[in-house]
Amino acid sequence: MGAAKIPEQINERFVSSGPVADWPKSRRVHVSPPVKLSYCTVCFESFVSEPTLAQHIAAKHGRQHVYLKVDERIIRDICCLSAVPKTMAVVLLDCPQIPLTITVDGQVSKLNVNKTTNLNRYLKAAKPGSQIEILAGTPGLPQTYRLFIGVQPQFEADKLDDQFRRFLAEGLNSGRQELMRLREGLEILNLSEFEQRYRDGILEFIHGSQLKKERNLPHSKTHLEKAFELLLPFDTELAREARYALALTMNCFSGQWSTPAGSRFHRAEAFFCAKGPPLPKRNSTTTSFPGIPIDELSIMILAAVDAYAEKDDDTVLRIVDEIRNSNLILDRNDEEKVTLLAARAGLRRGDLEIAKREYGLLADGIHFFEEAFRILKKM
Ligand SMILES: [Zn+2]
Repeated sequence: MGAAKIPEQINERFVSSGPVADWPKSRRVHVSPPVKLSYCTVCFESFVSEPTLAQHIAAKHGRQHVYLKVDERIIRDICCLSAVPKTMAVVLLDCPQIPLTITVDGQVSKLNVNKTTNLNRYLKAAKPGSQIEILAGTPGLPQTYRLFIGVQPQFEADKLDDQFRRFLAEGLNSGRQELMRLREGLEILNLSEFEQRYRDGILEFIHGSQLKKERNLPHSKTHLEKAFELLLPFDTELAREARYALALTMNCFSGQWSTPAGSRFHRAEAFFCAKGPPLPKRNSTTTSFPGIPIDELSIMILAAVDAYAEKDDDTVLRIVDEIRNSNLILDRNDEEKVTLLAARAGLRRGDLEIAKREYGLLADGIHFFEEAFRILKKM
């Protein structure tokens, strides 16, 4: 019953559930990933520590923002709990009065709040099997939170994953028409709400990746962000890999991604993320979804990070040159990653001219300016 145990009740990432006939009876508590990752409620940064996430939200998005906290965890939009939570609160940051509509198993309560407010009394009616929905009338962007207590809604990823696996095995060489055929085939399946969300998330991810390959950047960005949003609640290998790939392209480097040691993104997390793991010298990478689309630039960046981890600075700088002489850099995010690789490799190789130039560029950037100032001061 201690406070430390509370967060363990929450599973925000849905794992594949068994056949429908199975799950209500067994009410299995689903296995959670070893490290629970919480995503920011506004952007796609992710954190292991709740206080760090709260700090991030306050510092980055503090103006007129509202979020829900359940058993000390910040909830993005939906989550499953193995039991009725002990605490629930709506947190208001620099926000005027907002209306809340709280529905517990169909019973509706309405109230207005003008500061961070404890909502524990609405938990009294909840029991295993209950659903709680909270609609917050945040200015400009009403937000809905849904809590499922005791049972996970039906979500069987396998029937979708098999089809995605077959499709992705062809790589992105499959064009629009093939994607449309895949979409049509998946649309006639009888899917639950969460299976539909998962399907749409992966389809958006593939579509956005195709657009990026065609260098249609604004459109690809819209679809890839949509994919990230849709895939956030799922803990399947495909969803995780897609999230890592997206976090790398979108420079989500403030927190950590929680990649397992065998992931091909593990070293990239270590290299770029402020709170990532130590950079491993040896890395065996495996993936059971070999066709997951990763853009050409990301592939080169991963190769450069591997070379950096193996202390091969010449190769890092050679890959950086290749990237810069190509037409692969599409935006500032891309530039920042490539510049960091050049800066660190140049510095370690003792090439102060390179280090000075590259860190000088990073000093104007978003993520690595502190490192840049620290190094430049010493030069
Ligand atoms: Zn954020």
